[in-house]
Amino acid sequence: MLDTHTPLLYLPFWPALVARREPPWPAKFSLLEPMMTTNRRDFLTGAASMAGAAMTPPHEHGHSYDHEHQAVPSDPALRVKALESLLVEKGLVDRSALDTLIDAYETKIGPRNGARVVARAWSDPAYKQRLLTNADAAIAELGYGGMQGEHMVVLENTPKVHNLVVCTLCSCYPWPVLGLPPVWYKSAPYRSRAVIDPRGVLREFGLPLSDQVEVRVWDSTAEIRYLILPERPAGTEHLTEDELAALVTRDSMIGVTNVSSPAKADTK
Ligand code: FE
Repeated sequence: MLDTHTPLLYLPFWPALVARREPPWPAKFSLLEPMMTTNRRDFLTGAASMAGAAMTPPHEHGHSYDHEHQAVPSDPALRVKALESLLVEKGLVDRSALDTLIDAYETKIGPRNGARVVARAWSDPAYKQRLLTNADAAIAELGYGGMQGEHMVVLENTPKVHNLVVCTLCSCYPWPVLGLPPVWYKSAPYRSRAVIDPRGVLREFGLPLSDQVEVRVWDSTAEIRYLILPERPAGTEHLTEDELAALVTRDSMIGVTNVSSPAKADTK
């Protein structure tokens, strides 16, 4: 079934969410889907050729737990291939234009935009206030905005409150500031466990939190996308905005990690 959480308007871009190349994810999520090592076009082509395998009966496993088989052949990939072929055949989508769009979000628009927003907020208290009260306008001040980022909410992590973002239904994510979502963000284990056991998930990402810290989990939707404003690490008072931005990671803006102090600050 197609992602009904995503407006039909974005249907032509849906292949990007399913069949893009993904970076490795942390070892603690080794039960997640296997990593895709091919590019988007190769993957779609391969999915079509593997269609026959989808008709074979389920094989026996040496274990009893239930897990997803999305890789061989991925049902979404087959649907994407069929959808893309149909759209191209009807002249509604140009393959090269689609690849250009995907490449833009994969390689040009990414978490560095969000990092600049965070660094500005750390450096400019007035901007931070605007960001927390009207995120869309504040983010637009830096020139960012657009599809999948029309209705942004920024949440500040503090020593007492830690915010974590998930999309329990699918993979809603703020594209203009973070690019495309990582594989683990779209995976069923993350989507369920972030809600059921957020402290456990954070621990696996290397962020054990004290019971004194309140954990708030925010469920992204097609209407609202969240960006976490991480705590500014200690020892960064002397850093410029660009240097601060370089410290900010994608994961810290999803809320699964904090921002670490730079090594040179640690040694001072
Ligand atoms: Fe979603």
